[in-house]
Amino acid sequence: MKKHNFSAGPSILAPEVIKNTADAIINFADTGLSVLEVSHRSKEFQAVIDEASLLVKQLLDVPEGYSVLWLGGGASMQFAMVPMNLLRTKAAYLDTGTWAANAIKEARLFGDVEVLASSKEANYTYYPHDYVVPADVDYFHITTNNTIYGTELRKDPDVPVRLVADMSSDIFTRPVDVKKYDLIYGGAQKNIAPAGVTFVIVRDEALGHVDRAIPTMLDYRTHIKKGSMFNTPPVLPIYTALQTLRYYRDLGGVEELERRDNAKAALLYNAIDESKMFEGTVVNPEDRSIMNVCFVMTPEYKELEKDFIDFATARGLVGIKGHRSVGGFRASLYNALPIESVQVLVDTMREFEKKH
Ligand SMILES: *Cc1c(COP(=O)(O)O)cnc(C)c1O
Repeated sequence: MKKHNFSAGPSILAPEVIKNTADAIINFADTGLSVLEVSHRSKEFQAVIDEASLLVKQLLDVPEGYSVLWLGGGASMQFAMVPMNLLRTKAAYLDTGTWAANAIKEARLFGDVEVLASSKEANYTYYPHDYVVPADVDYFHITTNNTIYGTELRKDPDVPVRLVADMSSDIFTRPVDVKKYDLIYGGAQKNIAPAGVTFVIVRDEALGHVDRAIPTMLDYRTHIKKGSMFNTPPVLPIYTALQTLRYYRDLGGVEELERRDNAKAALLYNAIDESKMFEGTVVNPEDRSIMNVCFVMTPEYKELEKDFIDFATARGLVGIKGHRSVGGFRASLYNALPIESVQVLVDTMREFEKKH
């Protein structure tokens, strides 16, 4: 049976990306070796990481003076690396979900943290917009897309201080005005690659202003100087990332990806809004994520949630169970998910509703 993969992460990759990776596992760049067994210092792999970094710069129109890094440790490691490298006395954060809260917890190890706004009391069902960023903080940290709660900020805020963003789950879903940011990071397993590699886009000039000693591996300058090759980088995920980035380029870049993502999200949100059985969990339509669509059953149908999961599973729909902290359902519509899969989900919802 054809599967439709709505998993939140690790998540769907384009078929040609998986095919190219599979081919390279057998024979990488005509070396007669598997990409699993080649030196990261071989000229063939150097070409891979160079092209991947270049494509990130081209797709996002990254200005001069920024470096693209490929690191281990996941976005969660960035929660600590960011303050370690940028926090002198005080930083400001927005508390928009579990991942943002984790980032705040780590930052507190390195200095004062001012939480400018939080939607926690509403179980993170909206994105706060009502706050002022003080001019005396070292940086302001945001999570642009809250993967678990399905809220998103689809614009680049103007702030009087350095801006840092966790874009794990909405990178490459819209043009980003990179020059407004000093650092953008994310785990690649949502929209780029399999788990195991983390991307960082950092303004070189933002570094070197803290007094603390930074362990070599946790100092961005180490990885800038060594081109992400200070130690052995995650070779296979970087190879797959390159395949995804080429695929994005060939499709027409982030504008085209955004057009497709908007169409997919509109199809599903419209179906939810029209339904009497399902309802969205995010209150304000402007805050709704186009990547992670969270919805539940209305109170009168609540006890049918488990039945719907079974009904959907029998039709090949994978990964639509909501995160345990939200319940209900979450459909992740990452770039590689075709609109046909969203249509199957919508048809399944309508069929189930009709049955009851
Ligand atoms: C998945 C996710 C993380 C955690 O990423 P890891 O790579 O598992 O550490 C952090 N932030 C956001 C927004 C995420 O979606």
